[in-house]
Amino acid sequence: MKATLLIQNARIRPLDDKIREAESIAVIGDRILAVGMNGDLAGLAGPDTRVLDLSGRVVLPGFIDAHQHFSTFSQFPLQLNLSPSKVDTIAKMLDSIASETKHLPPGEWIRGRGYDHTKIKDGRLPSRAELDAVSPLHPVVLVHVSAHGAIVNSEALRRGRLDVKTPDPVGGKYVRFPGTGELTGELVGMAAFNFYSENMSGGRMVVPPFERPIRKKALIEAAKILNKVGITGVHDASVAPSYITSYHDACRDNLLTLRVNMLIPYQWLSDLERIGLVGNWGNEWARSTGVKIVIDGAIAGCTAALKDGYSHNPEDHGLLYIADQGEIDQLVRRAHIMGYQACLHANGDLAIEMALDAIEKAQTDDPRPDPRHRIEHCTMVNESILRRMRSLGVIATPFASYLWQHSEKLVPYYGLKRAEAMFAHKSFLDSGVKVAGASDHPAGLLPPLLGVQSMVTRKIPSGVVVGAEQKISVEEAFKMYTRYAAYASFEEKIKGSLSPGHLADMVVLDRDPWKTKPEEIGEISVEMTILGGRIVYP
Ligand SMILES: [Zn+2]
Repeated sequence: MKATLLIQNARIRPLDDKIREAESIAVIGDRILAVGMNGDLAGLAGPDTRVLDLSGRVVLPGFIDAHQHFSTFSQFPLQLNLSPSKVDTIAKMLDSIASETKHLPPGEWIRGRGYDHTKIKDGRLPSRAELDAVSPLHPVVLVHVSAHGAIVNSEALRRGRLDVKTPDPVGGKYVRFPGTGELTGELVGMAAFNFYSENMSGGRMVVPPFERPIRKKALIEAAKILNKVGITGVHDASVAPSYITSYHDACRDNLLTLRVNMLIPYQWLSDLERIGLVGNWGNEWARSTGVKIVIDGAIAGCTAALKDGYSHNPEDHGLLYIADQGEIDQLVRRAHIMGYQACLHANGDLAIEMALDAIEKAQTDDPRPDPRHRIEHCTMVNESILRRMRSLGVIATPFASYLWQHSEKLVPYYGLKRAEAMFAHKSFLDSGVKVAGASDHPAGLLPPLLGVQSMVTRKIPSGVVVGAEQKISVEEAFKMYTRYAAYASFEEKIKGSLSPGHLADMVVLDRDPWKTKPEEIGEISVEMTILGGRIVYP
């Protein structure tokens, strides 16, 4: 049997417990046949073998990001980019909408994203009347950079049948003109989500999804951006039905250069129950192992649910999107019985304990072997949380580079002590809790190598170390983004290490991260990404 691809003269870090180092990898089709020294594998080359001489470059397993929002990111190029670096005045915002009206037939949605109210030079948002003046016939929806707010024009309100009589939803509000109570067009929290987000509205949003062929093409294009930073797999943390179909479309046609594990929002749990689609379905391209349940808010948005209040505002304990423990218990139990991982978004210690209570009850009432429930983000932990996670076999997916990205907010919001203990990669490892690497992109920064740098150094951009006790080794940091992420979707037997029989997913780096200054790991370049034995980048 001859290899289809033979990699030689490489410095290979297989991250396999049995094979510490190697020079050569032989691949047949999409699987690894053998890993060893140049001489051992040379005989596997035949006349049709593609031989890649890597002249000493470093090869690692392809990176797997255990929590990000790839389907959301894929839609970015389909929307007007209103981020402050592009558009910083109301006039520019209106201009870009006006020019869009010329490209789209009347009645089509104009969608924008990324405006930041604190960075618009006029010091205010555009009014509904201003939006109507440039777009009287097209409905307009512009989504805030945080995704937790939006502004819309009159045609959009009409499409949503929203008017002065519409009550505010739980967890959100329609901003109104004083006196008349008429809607200004600004939507906050759940009012915005119900308007535009399929995931959060449970499919009852006003803005329709993009057309199916457009969604598929956008996924295929966006995957190339991830391949460029060495990513071969993601866990997409919220995949509603329109994107289950789109992932299916792209994978069926063998066009997606990315493997995806889809976490399905609990809003569709009853549909899964109705059709009897039990957990861990799909294949190595598109799989679903988990049901996503969002309990609390965001770390950077100051809405994580905390037992002790925020440092800058001790009265404030953050937000619980599901405040009723009984409701969380029921959701977890239903996901558990259906064979899914309950993937509970919980940042603050208060929310994490509620998640653990629910998991504990489900596992006590209906014991299931190796359920691998997950706490997404799992930012603020303590000794008792770690002990309970360990004994329940719960997996954590903390932010790899939030410390780097949000350093200026963390200490003022949470105080130095709590900031130092956040993203507790080392505590998880030391306590025997399974933990995987995650970016939360596009809310977080994408490159896994930056995540590795941040976990290894705990340094923020100014050079200050925050939480030295949470530093982990280079080897462990790479395992977070490979083996441990594969474990988090029950795929450690086919992914996450360069081992015989595993999928041939790998990344080639220009430098050895083990021999690079830790502060510079983020600057290492990805020279090549191989997916299932095929070069997908460059
Ligand atoms: Zn997320």
